[in-house]
Amino acid sequence: MTFANWLNEPYQQLLRRILQGRLHHATMILGEAGVGQRQLADAAAGLLLCQSLTENGPCGQCHGCQLFNAGNHADLMLVDPEGATIRVDTIRDLNTQMSKKSQVGKVKVAVISQAQRMNINAANALLKMLEEPPENSYFLLTSTSASSLLPTIRSRCQLINIQPAPSAVSAWLTEQNLSNADQLAWLGVGPYDLLALDNSQELDFYRNFPLQLQRWLASEITTQEWLKGAKSEEQGWYLKAFSAFFRATLAYSAGQPLPVVLEAPVTLALQRFTLDRLLQIHQRLLTLQDSMNRTNLNTSLQLTAEINSW
Ligand SMILES: [Zn+2]
Repeated sequence: MTFANWLNEPYQQLLRRILQGRLHHATMILGEAGVGQRQLADAAAGLLLCQSLTENGPCGQCHGCQLFNAGNHADLMLVDPEGATIRVDTIRDLNTQMSKKSQVGKVKVAVISQAQRMNINAANALLKMLEEPPENSYFLLTSTSASSLLPTIRSRCQLINIQPAPSAVSAWLTEQNLSNADQLAWLGVGPYDLLALDNSQELDFYRNFPLQLQRWLASEITTQEWLKGAKSEEQGWYLKAFSAFFRATLAYSAGQPLPVVLEAPVTLALQRFTLDRLLQIHQRLLTLQDSMNRTNLNTSLQLTAEINSW
């Protein structure tokens, strides 16, 4: 997967800070989901672990670079959410690891992906570490939402915001051979997440969704006919698509432009639902999505009941 062009500027900024020896010990990379936070954090880890960093980036030759490129660097710690959360035990283990002496070069690096998923105990455990970081240790956090993180953690980090222009995203996806990416823009899925779905059944599902929804709203198909045979993993797809659809409908009624592929179903939805009802449905879908993420419950019954109540 290639490095999106909107990541180049923050990457160069990180490179300059590292070369000048003034990179803050904790950096938080923020942006909408899937705009490349993780890709930038990984690249930054590569810069930090190179033992003879050049003005053009990692040398690619040193022991540090070789181990990093092989995905096998002992001084690089990766933390990813397990399910919906990052647990306190995971952060405590990380703290123990980060307190040890580096094995390869001079620095130790931790990449904490989706830091907004830390529960309160995990966040507090990390905060302790950030308040008194071990010498030569660097923490690279990625997050989709600054507000859900403890303000005290944010205030300990240097923030980097990634906000690619929609036109840049669309051009890049076309370069990556994702056909008709514009038709999926309503879904609000970040470009890297969308690429990860490329050619999957899930992508086909989202491409077909507006037409299916239009047919359902026009009473050409019943709820049973539509949801019949939906596999359990598809419940999440329906929820994501419905949430995105109602969000787009609400945005349109607030004066935002409407993606062409949603014109017919949104027109039907606005005939059927009042604005209050749309807000209520959207909120309920978000709650359902949240409980599905947290509990991994099969939401099939709730989803069918929800749709039947519309
Ligand atoms: Zn190197």
